[in-house]
Amino acid sequence: MDLKKLSIFLKENDIPAFRLNQVRDAVYKNFAASWDEIPVLPAALRDRLRHGIHIHSVDTLDTLVSKKRDAIKFCFGLKDGLKIESVLLKLMSEKWSLCVSTQVGCPVRCPFCATGKKGLKRNLSPDEISDQFLAAAHYLKTRGTQKIGSVILMGMGEPFLNYDSVAEAMRTMADPELIGLGQRHISVSTAGHVPGIRRFAKDFPQCNLAISLHAAEDRLRTDLVPLNRTYPLPQLAKALKDYIFSTKRRVFVEYVLFEGVNNSRTQVARLNAWLRTVAAPKYFVVNIIPYNRTGGPYKAPTRERVKLFAELLEATGIEVTIRKSMGEDIEGACGQLAGK
Ligand code: SAH
Ligand code: SF4
Repeated sequence: MDLKKLSIFLKENDIPAFRLNQVRDAVYKNFAASWDEIPVLPAALRDRLRHGIHIHSVDTLDTLVSKKRDAIKFCFGLKDGLKIESVLLKLMSEKWSLCVSTQVGCPVRCPFCATGKKGLKRNLSPDEISDQFLAAAHYLKTRGTQKIGSVILMGMGEPFLNYDSVAEAMRTMADPELIGLGQRHISVSTAGHVPGIRRFAKDFPQCNLAISLHAAEDRLRTDLVPLNRTYPLPQLAKALKDYIFSTKRRVFVEYVLFEGVNNSRTQVARLNAWLRTVAAPKYFVVNIIPYNRTGGPYKAPTRERVKLFAELLEATGIEVTIRKSMGEDIEGACGQLAGK
């Protein structure tokens, strides 16, 4: 929520400043989403606020729950009519992980990604990013289910092309007086924006970094992730090397598998060799994501071929996980977010 705007509103209306803290706690700690859910405020004040201030900058238009109940997709409306999506995922733990969007659309235009298909509409504001958390937390609270334990900035958009807003939203999420997730429970996924990786290493050394690699050879990677033209693999390797040196943290490498494109034995060897130019294997976890269909020419490998790729890579000494696809039936899986 826009606390600055609220603070000005309170001053202009001669309302004592302690009301600001009451609202802040109600919204960020108890996930109140309407003024009526904040009964400590006098009714007359709630009436005035209702007409002057929005609690959330995003409105929940729709929620879809997957058949297995392990994914919940939210469609949010912004105040200018555009739409974005967030997805709650039950990963390993009992708690939920929330995947949030950082842009409406995405300018990088990876050919396999539904978000990239329409290009960039606009950047999200800091509140539009952190309010996705507040709205999802409100939804869970009203249904009495487990809480959100971590956030991944891996929804629509390239986070580092909207760095300042993303950084402010992350501070809101980490701030103990606001959302209060520890930095270690916040992850950012980038398509390989080198200046962003460098700033992130300085600003958020405790947060997690994921790199969408998908190929360890420049020609192929430029086809799959056009941002590679601007920041080719040698530059990316140098940035990651410096990141690992200064933060001492592991890097999560995302590798979407496309049959006949990037899943051969040679490509396992190339991936292993490239990672070793960056750092020792213990600094990486490679997350294999079988391609989720979004239309277009790409095909997902069979389950056996996915397993084979993972085993070959594991044999080189690198930790590998295979992402189980979640929320495919609600188009909430990786790359399927299109803000329809
Ligand atoms: N722009 C950032 C974060 C959002 S994309 C990035 O690219 O990292 C989040 C992840 O979903 C990326 O790893 C991306 O490569 C992956 N993804 C996109 N489309 C996909 C698809 N159709 N199937 C599987 N993964 C996909
Ligand atoms: Fe943008 Fe990431 Fe989709 Fe590529 S995969 S178009 S960078 S959101």
